[in-house]
Amino acid sequence: MPVALRYLARVWLLVLVFPTLDVRAAAEDVMTLQVDVFLLEFWGYPHLSAEYGERELEELFAEVNAIWAQAGIQWNLASVERVDLREADFEIPTRGFMRPREFRNAVATVIPEDPSAGRWPVYFVRQFPVPGSGVYLVELGTVLYGELNQHGVRRPVVLAHELGHSLGLPHVPQPDNLMYGGRDRNPELTQNLNPRQINRARAQAKIGPWQRARSSRQVD
Ligand SMILES: [Zn+2]
Repeated sequence: MPVALRYLARVWLLVLVFPTLDVRAAAEDVMTLQVDVFLLEFWGYPHLSAEYGERELEELFAEVNAIWAQAGIQWNLASVERVDLREADFEIPTRGFMRPREFRNAVATVIPEDPSAGRWPVYFVRQFPVPGSGVYLVELGTVLYGELNQHGVRRPVVLAHELGHSLGLPHVPQPDNLMYGGRDRNPELTQNLNPRQINRARAQAKIGPWQRARSSRQVD
């Protein structure tokens, strides 16, 4: 085959293969995922109880959706329910929670084990009594989110990040990535997803929240 013809053949091959690899083209097909919000009310611990109403939730999910639009994924606020935790269900140790893991484990015990199939449960508290304002409870397929972080600031990007874990995304070292795992997150910059992450997230989105038996590693 003459060189020019061979080159042309290669170009055609690229043209044929490229559309299937183009994530942006795939992302035009927007996937809408159903989120069930549970506002935890801690009997006897009002400082922990979620305070958000409909307007705050809508604002929050608008910001989360602005971040996830790059993946063609939209989170739909499908239901909102208040969960009243009786004293017997949840107890703060008298010395308080010493580590994030202790708090996360205590809340995990009051969250039902089987979320509705194909839905994304997000449990809200007002403010974590430990550092951090979001954690993915991988054994339950559930996000736990604090309306305010420990400095009293709203951080919608944290919810976007935890939902990333629910779509099977692990931490990455790039500080501009939504799944950056470092402590020095800049919420304005830490929002990007790369094509591989987008493909992984969209594949998981078809199945439901990523779940596995708990390991010794915390997913926060
Ligand atoms: Zn994380």
